[in-house]
Parts: sequence; C-alpha cells; structure tokens
Amino acid sequence: MNNAIYNFLLPSNEPVLEYKKGSNERILLEKELQRQLRNPIEIPLIIGGKEVRTQQTGLVKMPHRHTQVLATYYKASEKEVKMGIKAALDAHRIWSDLSWTIRAAILLKAAELISGKYRELMNAATMLGQSKNIYQAEIDAVCETIDFLKFNAFFASRIYEMQPSSTFNQLNKMEFRPLEGFVFTVSPFNFTSIASNLNMAPVMMGNTTVWKPASTSLLSNYYLMKIFQEAGLPDGVINFIPGSGSMIGKTVLESPDLAGIHFTGSNETFNHLWNQVSLQLPHYKSYPRLIGETGGKNFMIVHPSASVQEVAVNAYRGAFEFQGQKCSAVSRMYVPVSLWPDIKTELIKISSDAKMGDVLDPLNFINAVIDEGSFDNIMDYLRYAEASKMAEIIVGGHGDKQVGYFVEPTIIVTTDPKFKTMEEEIFGPVLTVFVYQDEKLDETIELCNATSPYGLTGAVFSRDRVVAASMCERLRYAAGNFYINDKPTGAIVGLQPFGGSRASGTNDKAGGEFNLFRWISPRTIKETFQPATEYRYNYMME
Ligand code: NAD
Repeated sequence: MNNAIYNFLLPSNEPVLEYKKGSNERILLEKELQRQLRNPIEIPLIIGGKEVRTQQTGLVKMPHRHTQVLATYYKASEKEVKMGIKAALDAHRIWSDLSWTIRAAILLKAAELISGKYRELMNAATMLGQSKNIYQAEIDAVCETIDFLKFNAFFASRIYEMQPSSTFNQLNKMEFRPLEGFVFTVSPFNFTSIASNLNMAPVMMGNTTVWKPASTSLLSNYYLMKIFQEAGLPDGVINFIPGSGSMIGKTVLESPDLAGIHFTGSNETFNHLWNQVSLQLPHYKSYPRLIGETGGKNFMIVHPSASVQEVAVNAYRGAFEFQGQKCSAVSRMYVPVSLWPDIKTELIKISSDAKMGDVLDPLNFINAVIDEGSFDNIMDYLRYAEASKMAEIIVGGHGDKQVGYFVEPTIIVTTDPKFKTMEEEIFGPVLTVFVYQDEKLDETIELCNATSPYGLTGAVFSRDRVVAASMCERLRYAAGNFYINDKPTGAIVGLQPFGGSRASGTNDKAGGEFNLFRWISPRTIKETFQPATEYRYNYMME
C-alpha cells in the first residue's frame, strides 16, 4: 500500500477559450451543437451505477425554441428514490474507506475529461439546454466546473494535513470522517458547475449523494453524471434522480440516514426543506447539515466620483448576462443625480446595440429565459412597473414567448427606493435604478443596506478610494461577496469564494475550503503510551 503523505499543488484556473470565428474550438463546438440538435437523447435515472427507466417521462426542450426537443427523460417514483438512498448507503463504506488521494484522482480525471475530450459536449449541452451563449457556457460548464473539481482536491489536501501535535507520551490524530449517512444534493437550473460542485464537494470528502437535478438543466447534468462515471466514480457514490422536486424531497427527508442537504436554489424551496427537517429532527440518526445558497437582490452604488463608462458597462453586463438569471446579477442600482443623465445615455446606447436571440447566432448577447413559468413571472413584474406612477421603463419592457422565452433586458427608473422591483428577486433581465441626490449619499447607503432581505453580492463604483473603503465597512452585512469598481457577478473559484448571508443562504462559500469542512465530522484519536497506574496526584504521595 502506498502510504505517502501527499499534497496537491495549488491549481491555476482553467483558461477561458475565445471561440473566435474559424478557431479550432469554435469549429468543434459548432459541429457538436448541430449533432446534439439532430440527435435527441434519452435520459435515464442512474442508481447504483445502473440506468433505470420508469413509466413516467418528460421532455427537455430548448428555452429559445421550445418546439425543439433535446431529450426525453425518465422521472423517478418513490420506489426509485428509495433505491437511490439504499445505493448511496451501500456505496458509503467503500467510498469513505478509499484513500482520499484516489477520490481526488477521480475528481482530477473528471476535470481533465471536461477540459479536453468533452469540452464541446458540455458547452453545447449547456447552451442548448439552458440557453447560454458561448461565453456564458464556457465560463460555467467548462471553466468553473473544472476549477471546482481541481481546487477541491487541493483544499482537501490542506484539510487532511491539519493534525494536532503529539507531545511526550501520546499520539494525537484527527480523522476527518465523512458524514454518517447520505447527502441529499438539490441543484438549480442556472449553473452546470454548481450542479457538479453540489455533489463533488461532499463526494471529495468521502460522502455519497442522492442528487435531484433541476428538470430544466437535465441535458448538461446527465452528461456530467456520465463523465463522473467515466472518470472512475464507483457505482452508487452519486445517484442521479430526476423527477418531481416535492415528491423526491419528501421521500428523502423521511430517511433517518439523511446526513446533510447541499442545496442551491430559491428561498422558498430551501425554507421548505429546512422546515421539514426541523419537524422530523428526532427521527434522524444525526443532526443533518443544512447548507444552502439561495436568492439575491444585488446592488450597485455609484459615487459621484465614478467613471460613467465603467458604471454603464458593468451595470449592463452585471444585470443582463445570462438574462439576469444569476443569483449574483445586479438588480438594483443607486445613482447620483449628477451622473444619471450620462449613465442613462450610455445604458440606452449599449441596449440599442446588444442583440437578443438564439444561442446558435454568436452575435446574440441575450438569449432566452429558462421556461414559461419564469417568463410569465418576469412579465408580471414588468406589467406592474408599467402600471405604476412611481416607475418609468426607459429600456425594454416587452417579452415574446411564441418561439422562445425572450424577455427584453429592461431598465426601470423608480422614485420609490422601496419599490417592489428594488426589493424582490425577479431572476430575470430587469434592473431597477433609484436616482439619489448627491448630498444624500449617507442616507442612500442606509437605504441600500435595509431595502432587501438578501445579502449576496454588491458593488461600489468610486474613484475616491476613501469613500469606497467606508462603504465597504458600512455595508459589511449587505453582501457576502463585495466588489469595488467591478460588477458583482463572475466570482472565480479559489479567488473569490462565493456565498452570502441574511436570506441569501448559509454562506458556506463554494470554491473555498469552508464548504468542504461542512462535509466532515472529525474524530479525535488519542493514544497514550504509558497509561496511568496510580489514582493519586503526585503531591498526595509526599
Ligand atoms: P428552485 O428552488 O425552483 O429549484 C432548485 C431545485 O430544487 C430544483 O432542482 C427543483 O426541482 C428542486 N426542488 C423544488 N422543490 C423541491 C422540494 N420540495 N424538495 C426538493 N427539491 C425541490 O430554484 P431554481 O429556479 O432552479 O434556481 C433559481 C434560484 O436559485 C434563484 O433564487 C437564485 O438566486 C438561486 N441561486 C442561488 C445561488 C447562490 O449561490 N446563492 C446560485 C444559483 C442560483
């Protein structure tokens, strides 16, 4: 047995390819997009390493052309969920006993497969299935997924080397046990990389999972599962179970072996899961770990010293990239009256230039929102703003769902800093602006801090560094990821560990070792070489 103490080196982030016209990567990607369009697939459940097909099926359709079917998937019933739990429990012993360097090797192998052999497969599936343009797919499905895998192997090696000292007459050890039971992973539609990490972070630390993927991101998520298997993941370590969220959630939470939930998605779903766990607490063998990253109402505060061009470009990208369907997307902005006319002109100029449409046309900056429910929800907000005397829509405001779920990037200006679209997460391409009097900056910072229940991301734009530092201080709890002169999106693994507090989640910072700590339950082992043979203290024997 190789019992070397091994350290994985600090990896570098996966380079983002450019996909310029005529480049090798662009040619391969275009071919793969056409292949996936022409060849709809079947997506079975994968339980204990085996494909399982059920009586109930659903369709995976393209958000930007909803008549196009990409896949037929099988939905779990209670029986398959229970099979998934059993498979995860059965796999726990072999997986948790395996040397952690072997587990790490499987993660690193998966990273290599995505970086090379399956790069265009993952990009095309994410583009077609989740309506991301080339760049948005590349930074998510490829680069961030690879970074999570590689950095987690590195972070794990740092955790495993944390050992207590062994002084005279004793040997002290920390054993970083995986949790006892299985982990329920529940992933959102919007990031392929998050779906990967929700599973692979606990798996790296020796846990096994029952995975409920979002029905609207099944194409890319199924390919992920296949890649993990090809990388050597043993049967049952991850069990891929598409189907109804409420049924799967209820069945999983009834298991006494539930050891943790790794969740990313809406507050509504996370709160529901948390409540259900708390109601059934006495029934579990351990206290389940509840790790959830949820919604955001992310802000940009502009100081009068800021650059107009920088503010406009970053607000536009921050609010509208991937149709605003990023938990970190800017959705409220506070602008001083002195800068507003110029920033407004610049935002209108960019808006009239940016194109919206199918992901197959690389010139489209904006694509479709994920599904009809999301489209209708966003349109309700736009109609509300249209009807309000306290709001004016200066850009966009329309949507069309005939071919795909297209919502125009929309900018609302409001005179009410507590306007509904300043407070609630819309999860679509909608930015609301409140214009403040320059002399009321202090008041505006307070407003920003108290306006929404969330605390995920935020940014300040200011060329006055002292002001920026003071805003950073005063908004300490308003954002778990705070940016100075940058848009509050696009966190990179290893550089900006990600997560927020308040209503935005438990802030366990995916992309850092903090998250991995949640998936272990350390055992301290002390061995004494000369056990005591006398009950009296020394001074009692004088
Ligand atoms: P969602 O809550 O609707 O769905 C998330 C997942 O939960 C899906 O797989 C869904 O099927 C499942 N689900 C729904 N009800 C369930 C139940 N009762 N039991 C078990 N599972 C259930 O969220 P979404 O629409 O996929 O994602 C959008 C949300 O995710 C937004 O609020 C966004 O801000 C948030 N998000 C947060 C982060 C972050 O890091 N903070 C990152 C990405 C997305």
